[in-house]
Amino acid sequence: MADRVFNFSPGPATLPYEVLLKAGKDVVNFQETGIGLIEMSHRSKEFIAVTDETEANLRDLMSIPDNYKVLFLQGGASTQFFMIPMNLLGAGKKASYLNTGTWSKKAIKEAQLFGEVEVPYSSEETGFKRVPQPGEYTVAENSEYLYYVSNNTIYGTQFPKAPETEKMLVSDMSSDILSRPVDVSKHGLIFAGAQKNLGPAGVTIVIIREDLLVRTPANTPTMLAYKTHADKGSMFNTPPCFAIYVVGEVLKWLKQLGGVTVIEKMNIEKANLLYNAIDASDYYRGHAEKESRSLMNIPFTLPSKELEAKFIAEATARGLNGLKGHRSIGGCRASIYNAFPQEGVVKLVEFMKEFEAKNPIA
Ligand SMILES: *Cc1c(COP(=O)(O)O)cnc(C)c1O
Repeated sequence: MADRVFNFSPGPATLPYEVLLKAGKDVVNFQETGIGLIEMSHRSKEFIAVTDETEANLRDLMSIPDNYKVLFLQGGASTQFFMIPMNLLGAGKKASYLNTGTWSKKAIKEAQLFGEVEVPYSSEETGFKRVPQPGEYTVAENSEYLYYVSNNTIYGTQFPKAPETEKMLVSDMSSDILSRPVDVSKHGLIFAGAQKNLGPAGVTIVIIREDLLVRTPANTPTMLAYKTHADKGSMFNTPPCFAIYVVGEVLKWLKQLGGVTVIEKMNIEKANLLYNAIDASDYYRGHAEKESRSLMNIPFTLPSKELEAKFIAEATARGLNGLKGHRSIGGCRASIYNAFPQEGVVKLVEFMKEFEAKNPIA
């Protein structure tokens, strides 16, 4: 552990140390088989057991109803931006998208290739500082689904709970899946790239209601139809074996901790430490409005760009890494996903106080 720093990276991001140690060992020799995990056939009984256990633990942790399929896909979360409308929308049909940041904008652009898109709410003009409150927008009667990005990784906003609507929800939960309980049954589809809160880059989890699998237009390429992967247990072709394995280990770690209600409490505690520090001073300013604040990503600014650069450099020198904000909004950002230790947040808050005292505004 001595060689580890506190890594505030937004993704790929910190994973539990014990998971990394075990993965290192299994990569060389998986469960004493004499074969490294990443050398093993995806159709071997050992690897099928890994996939089965990973799916079972995800179902358990998220209370996924039986009429939903869990898929392990490739292409990142960004591939879902087009795969969703390609499978679920179709020409002449309409879908509704809440525009709360970069990732929703990208999803909107792709959906427009396949059908009609309405955007009943956007916080773009005010710098994506917030997500809508219930009742702030209305969704068209003939809309197929309402799409929302559960946590806006770049702007540090998060829906406190799923939007209230009669419509089927579709959600990008890439940066907050398993950080808190979610009612899967309100959703037709939930997806998440693994590299924020679940594991390494390379696998995207898709949770899809079974009745949606038959909506896909006939001229859809085989690999891009959800049904292909649902029918074959994500083994139509070679799945991202290593990434699935690590996600499986992270899920075991989370179960041992006590699951999503326990991690939610821990996440609230961690985020409050940092928000309290930001609120206690005029020196640091959070990007997000209070009611929309994210528990996972906390962007903030200092009084000047020069001070921000100095802050990031000095933080890095003392083992607080990855605090530079996203290029689109600048400033600083602390990403504190499930596996990020509270101790690191405490260290950051200490450093913030010290830095402010040593670098007063002239
Ligand atoms: C990172 C991120 C994405 C993009 O993920 P890729 O796997 O790189 O395509 C999409 N949505 C959200 C909310 C993200 O945080």
